[in-house]
Order: sequence, then structure tokens, then C-alpha cells
Amino acid sequence: MILRIGIGYDIHPLVEGRKLYIGGVEIPSNKGSLGHSDGDVLIHAICDALLGALGFGNIGELFPDTDEKYKDARSEIFLKDVKKILDEKNFEIVNIDSTVILEEVKLSPFVGEMKKKISSILEIPFDKISIKPKRNEKFDATGKGDALACFAVVLIKSKVGE
Ligand code: MG
Repeated sequence: MILRIGIGYDIHPLVEGRKLYIGGVEIPSNKGSLGHSDGDVLIHAICDALLGALGFGNIGELFPDTDEKYKDARSEIFLKDVKKILDEKNFEIVNIDSTVILEEVKLSPFVGEMKKKISSILEIPFDKISIKPKRNEKFDATGKGDALACFAVVLIKSKVGE
């Protein structure tokens, strides 16, 4: 069995007039995430962590923001594609841990729904996914409410040789 670890990070500006999607869930907020796609930092960070673990580059290389077909795309499509690569390479997810940094909106009531969404896309049980909301205590762009960010770590293992 081969174990591989990956880390992902993402940050997007928060602006008025955009919807806020985190973990595939629309979060009520007066500001939303600005990006070429829907700007879902949690899904982007998880994609990058999985791609990193596979040694497969990053989300920007796979889904370039110069490609019009990804304009305002819901980020679930990226995660679905990354899951396909994971399957093709014969790897499965051991666990995902993540921290979402957002100052002004309390995310804990939405964590269950985010886990449900991600577990259905990745076809893994709830208890393999951890999502920890965090405030940045007024520091930096995230703390001032101008951006939201996410860190994710994943562990994957090869299905062959078990
Ligand atoms: Mg992003």
C-alpha cells in the first residue's frame, strides 16, 4: 500500500453582488466570493490537496481561468473531475481535514451540509471529512472581511497491494 499526503490552499476576495458558495453550499451573506468560477475556496483547496497528493499539478492548470467554459462554474464539477483522476490512478481517500477562514459569517450551522455535499461527490463517509470554521480575529484581509481563505490536507492510499 502506498500512502500519499497533499496540501491545498485558496483565497478569494469577498465582494458585494456575488453569491457565497463554500463546500458546494450557498451561504447567506451580504458579500460573495469573487472568482472566475463560483470561488468556492473549500472545494478549490480540497481539489488542490488531492491533485498535490497525486502529483498532478494544481486546479489552475487543470481548469484554467482563461477558459470561458469555467466562467461562473459551480466548483463541484472540478471536484468530480479530480475524483475521476483519483479513481483512474487507483487511489482512495483516507481522510480530509480543512480550515475555512471567514470573519463575518458563522459557518458552523452549514458544516453538516458541506460534508454531505463533499461526501456524495467523493463517495466517502462523513467521518472522513473534517471542516473547521475559523475567524482571523480581525487580522489581515480575511480578518477585515475582504477575503475568505481555506487550508486543506488530504491523505490518500493506493487501492492496489492491500
Ligand atoms: Mg480558487
